Amino acid sequence: MAEHIKKEEIELQRSFIYKIKEINARYTNINGHPMKANTETYGCQQNENDTERIRGMLKEAGFDFCDDANDADVVVYNTCAVRENAEQKVFGRLGILKHIKESRPDMLIGICGCMVQQEHITEQIKKVHNHVDLIFGTHALYKFPELLYNAMVKNNKKSIVDITDSDGAIAEEIPILRDYSQKAWVSVMYGCNNFCSYCIVPYVRGRERSRDSKDIIAEIENLVANGCTEISLLGQNVNSYGKDLEENINFAKLLRMVNDIKGVERIRFMTSHPKDLSDELIDAMAECEKVCKQLHLPVQAGSNKVLSDMNRKYTKEDYLEKIKKVKEKIPNISLSTDIIVGFPTETNEDFLETIDVLKKVEYDNIFSFIYSRREGTPAAKLDFVLSEEEIHNNFNKLLEVQNEISKRKNDEYVGRIEKVLVDGVSKNNENTLSGRLESSKVVNFVGSEDLVGKYVDVRITEAHTWSLNGEIVK
Ligand code: SF4
Repeated sequence: MAEHIKKEEIELQRSFIYKIKEINARYTNINGHPMKANTETYGCQQNENDTERIRGMLKEAGFDFCDDANDADVVVYNTCAVRENAEQKVFGRLGILKHIKESRPDMLIGICGCMVQQEHITEQIKKVHNHVDLIFGTHALYKFPELLYNAMVKNNKKSIVDITDSDGAIAEEIPILRDYSQKAWVSVMYGCNNFCSYCIVPYVRGRERSRDSKDIIAEIENLVANGCTEISLLGQNVNSYGKDLEENINFAKLLRMVNDIKGVERIRFMTSHPKDLSDELIDAMAECEKVCKQLHLPVQAGSNKVLSDMNRKYTKEDYLEKIKKVKEKIPNISLSTDIIVGFPTETNEDFLETIDVLKKVEYDNIFSFIYSRREGTPAAKLDFVLSEEEIHNNFNKLLEVQNEISKRKNDEYVGRIEKVLVDGVSKNNENTLSGRLESSKVVNFVGSEDLVGKYVDVRITEAHTWSLNGEIVK
């Protein structure tokens, strides 16, 4: 049973929010406006959701937000450890912030998330980037008000660090400022027990902890009461939901409970591990009318040898069998996956097995990455079979094959009328709106801003590889 942060501790953090609010009120009296915060998120939806909590706490403490770190009094970067290039980007940004801070020494810089949950990275930041005021890991997110307050009142240049090396108790009732009002991420569990050999997540996010279903349902009911209609249930491996709880529940049952909530129109979820995708879950997806007929099922590779080296615990045949079942039960399902190209033991023959999976499954969309070595994971000790050039060639080949499939799948939509939840106005054209179909495909169409957050019927008029164009059906 997952441990919970005690109510008194959450109350203590609230008291720090009030203290920061007082500082902010004094600042406003002098400057005519409150302090400004700038946040940036790297990595996955879990990080996006965590940043929404950081922004929620900042908002309650009276902060305004700005898009440019140059204008900010507090900058918080929520980082990702999954690939090396995300870490390099953060180090690059820290270099830029150093210059800004030289001219504005009162500015506070905070780094949080998965990257700093690794001790060697935290040491590097403390040594090389000592202009960072605040370093806190994934398990200390709820303590942000206390850490920020301490950083605001400290009179030395030492960084405040909290990277508790525990699995992280679940903290409920942290303020949250959501990016959208019509759709929301709702975390159902944290952490992962799978230890895929290339992945750093179990080391930085800890073991699986499920939230109580009553807390999840209460959060969703509250969202619906505030106008939200699309719920995305989040977890590193949602199929494991409930295994650590005393109540008789699993993810399929949770889906049905969310499906019963009045006012919810669409339910999505991610991510699923293929080995844990049960028949019960496939049935729940098929039977629950609000669950979008869309499934993201990461295959990672097609070769059984590589899958075994990755410690994925399924074979290509197992995976294809599950896809077959899904297609049989949910005929118009839209499928997507994650693929790693260039895992150290992957040969060119192994890679062709991945291409074979692409052709057999016919995904609507894939998220493909070149393998990134992560210190501390078993795969980091393996030697590469292929050269960098061969890996890049394979990566390009993968995209070429998938682009053709994605375009063909999108072409099938032309002429159809689809229900679209409008996300917002296009950044490039204020007359163009952007939204998503049930399948999660993005569609752009002409319309007025007052449609944002609403469902509209759109006739699909044109297909591209990654998006669709359409027109509103009057
Ligand atoms: S299932 Fe594997 S890839 Fe996904 S978070 Fe867990 S260890 Fe990482």
